[in-house]
Amino acid sequence: MAEDSIRVLAWSERTEPKEVYPEGINGAVARLLNGCKGVTAVTSALSDPEQGVSRKALDDCDVLVWFGHMKHEKVSDETVERIVKAVKENGMGFLGLHSTHFARPYRALMGTTCAWRTYVEDGKSALIRVVSPEHPIAEGVSEFTIPQEEWYGEPYDVPEPEAVIIEGIYNDGKEVARDGLVWTVGKGRVFYFRPGHETYPIYFMPQVQRILENGVRWLAGARRENA
Ligand code: ZN
Repeated sequence: MAEDSIRVLAWSERTEPKEVYPEGINGAVARLLNGCKGVTAVTSALSDPEQGVSRKALDDCDVLVWFGHMKHEKVSDETVERIVKAVKENGMGFLGLHSTHFARPYRALMGTTCAWRTYVEDGKSALIRVVSPEHPIAEGVSEFTIPQEEWYGEPYDVPEPEAVIIEGIYNDGKEVARDGLVWTVGKGRVFYFRPGHETYPIYFMPQVQRILENGVRWLAGARRENA
């Protein structure tokens, strides 16, 4: 591993369907990132010792990518504390994917309920639009369509973001949601990426992968600038 390589820990509770994600969402994200120049990713899961996020594992990563859905409440207080400390005090980046909006570490970082108004799994298409083209996370990303998705409706109870990078247009154009938002929390950065309902292969889409790669590079910036 190159000394200046961005180190990523991709975590999942592993409830995503094996037919869609044979290696898990964490495995798919790590595989994608390991194909990106200057990025090295490893995976862990809820069932691992210390729930896959030991102090050492967090010390050894610049960015933690998190996918939670049905097992949020299995994540312990100690795990939440370790993650929050790593972000706030050590500048670790945190990328929350889709249903991670209700993950305990994410809610602890946000300090709000993180609830959306509604959740509709209609399997219809979503139009994703870049609204902050100057932001590094939007680099090389243009408007695209996700063929099948679940939508979450605004309002979304999170603190005012520093930037909204992308928005999603759902329900035949009737709903607009902030689909990519960023914050600074203590010394660290947080990026929430809403697309990615686990029954559709959304994290294999090249444009989505570009956003995830850009996101990881941007999230890693805080720790690397402080180093
Ligand atoms: Zn979902």
